Amino acid sequence: MASMADSVNTLPFFYGNITREDAEDYLRQAGMGNGLYLLRQSRNYLGGFALSVSYSGRCYHYTIEREPSEMYAIAGGKSHRNPVDVIDYHSQEMDGLVCLLKKPCNRPRNMQPKVGPFEDLKEKLIREYVKQTWNLQGAALEQAIISQRPQLEKLIATTAHEKMPWFHGIITREDSESRLQNGSRTNGKFLIRQRDTNGSYALCLLHEGQVMHYRIDRDRTGKLSIPDGKKFDTLWQLVEHYSYKPDGLLRVLTHPCQRPDGEISKNAHNKLMHGYRKPVIYIVHKNQYQITKKSTYVMYCVYRTDRTAMPMDTEVYESPYADPDELRSSTVDRSHLFLEDGELGSGNFGTVMKGIYKMRKTEKSVAVKILKNDDNNPSVREEMLREANVMQQLDNPYIVRMIGICEAENLMLVMELAELGPLNKFLQKNKQTSIKNLTELVHQVSMGMKYLEEHNFVHRDLAARNVLLVTQHYAKISDFGLSKAVGEDQNYYKAKGHGKWPVKWYAPECINYFKFSSKSDVWSFGVLMWEAYSYGQKPYKGMKGNDVLQMIESGKRMDAPLNCPPEMYDLMRTCWEYKADIRPGFAVVEPRLREYYYDIAQ
Ligand code: ATP
Repeated sequence: MASMADSVNTLPFFYGNITREDAEDYLRQAGMGNGLYLLRQSRNYLGGFALSVSYSGRCYHYTIEREPSEMYAIAGGKSHRNPVDVIDYHSQEMDGLVCLLKKPCNRPRNMQPKVGPFEDLKEKLIREYVKQTWNLQGAALEQAIISQRPQLEKLIATTAHEKMPWFHGIITREDSESRLQNGSRTNGKFLIRQRDTNGSYALCLLHEGQVMHYRIDRDRTGKLSIPDGKKFDTLWQLVEHYSYKPDGLLRVLTHPCQRPDGEISKNAHNKLMHGYRKPVIYIVHKNQYQITKKSTYVMYCVYRTDRTAMPMDTEVYESPYADPDELRSSTVDRSHLFLEDGELGSGNFGTVMKGIYKMRKTEKSVAVKILKNDDNNPSVREEMLREANVMQQLDNPYIVRMIGICEAENLMLVMELAELGPLNKFLQKNKQTSIKNLTELVHQVSMGMKYLEEHNFVHRDLAARNVLLVTQHYAKISDFGLSKAVGEDQNYYKAKGHGKWPVKWYAPECINYFKFSSKSDVWSFGVLMWEAYSYGQKPYKGMKGNDVLQMIESGKRMDAPLNCPPEMYDLMRTCWEYKADIRPGFAVVEPRLREYYYDIAQ
């Protein structure tokens, strides 16, 4: 699972989570030449790096911050796509540095970049967090972690202190003193308490039998610091720093004072996070907190809610039938279905309406595909039933699920609601959508397609118009009207003849030999990617189907959309590999997208 940190990890001059003093030692051992440099992980800024350079017998250290725009820069300097580009730039231009970067100081042989304490904890915390917050397990848990890893890592990093034994939540100054004075009175014993709900804390430190209280305040940019002290993104980074040097404190932190057992309980966590399951979009202001009381004087941990909704926050992440109390049935009782005014969309078959479906325990907002009543054409009915039959066999967070069929005044297909509608239309209207956001959505589509591939289904109509958005950060594949199950041994579907086909999305073997497989879906996926990165433009604009085929046969492909990341255009080109057996499957495409997404998102 590559992230920016992972790709940097392979650099021979990257040392990982080492201290400034260690960096100076390494530079000294390597001779302290002018412009000798090494890169290390920032110990105070999340996702940031530090550059240590020797010049004139001294060491200089520069923080390479990750900016909100996902770019990297030395404070006040020029922004670059990654820390390596920052280094390349400063080997040509001093631009504020003490000298040009001349020579990398490579790690000693057999030394791996040092892993920080949080890295070790991270995996466990993420898993636990997803399990507790959304009550997920098995595939649903894994898929949540894969699709939302960058967001989860950030969330965990900023809340990880709540799991630390030294974090005591909101307790009074007096309580903190009695806790520190209790039991062993070792110098350097410490705890952190929360002072208020505005992000202010206190570091309480035992020194020669006395408790010192240092305020930790959050500045306007969200950074935490002791007055005039170094700034940190998280409390655990602050504790880590002062555990290795006093840096203004009376002494270093040595012994965490253990929080009484269970005080910040899992239940509190569940209760607090429960609100996230509501299918609303949360526009909650920064620094707004939720608090709950445990007893008269101890409050639970406090959760910041300044995050965008993740797929797991919505009511369509898991199947409505994932709850064992909801009986799985392929038919929907008309008396439990309430249609609302207004169409969501329409097609050959009729219309799609919004509705409410009353289940045993919950009420679900649904989309209802209603077959036109005056349609005497039995084939449309059959087609709709075939679509329902395919959908019924699929259960994945990135695929629109069928909830059931309702035979009443009309034949109705009740599906999960993806209210923001088709991806292409959404992007045409929302041209400010970031590349990161596009990549997140396209990656989710690849996850849904990987699932289809694993379950031997071919979609045959994969296009941006058939990807529906639940939120701006949650895409689902829909429209299974043309989909087919394929045999495990004969992994393609052979159409009997040419139909009303979306030729611009079809691989050459579909058009030439009527042969459909997951590999031909991969071709369509490449076109879908092109549509996404061109913000919903029509592919092969102005061209006829025949001309498109000729263009493909002649080896030409669509150009990259404007501002499309080269990595993503490369992937599109791979999806448009002429020969299906050379073209990668979704098992390859999905991790490639994942890697790029993590890279730009972390
Ligand atoms: P045809 O079968 O004629 O090709 P179509 O494929 O366009 O029609 P659908 O894609 O199934 O039909 O639905 C038409 C429109 O209805 C979609 O473009 C979308 O706007 C809306 N729609 C369909 N399903 C849903 C859903 N689950 N949630 C929200 N809107 C939906």
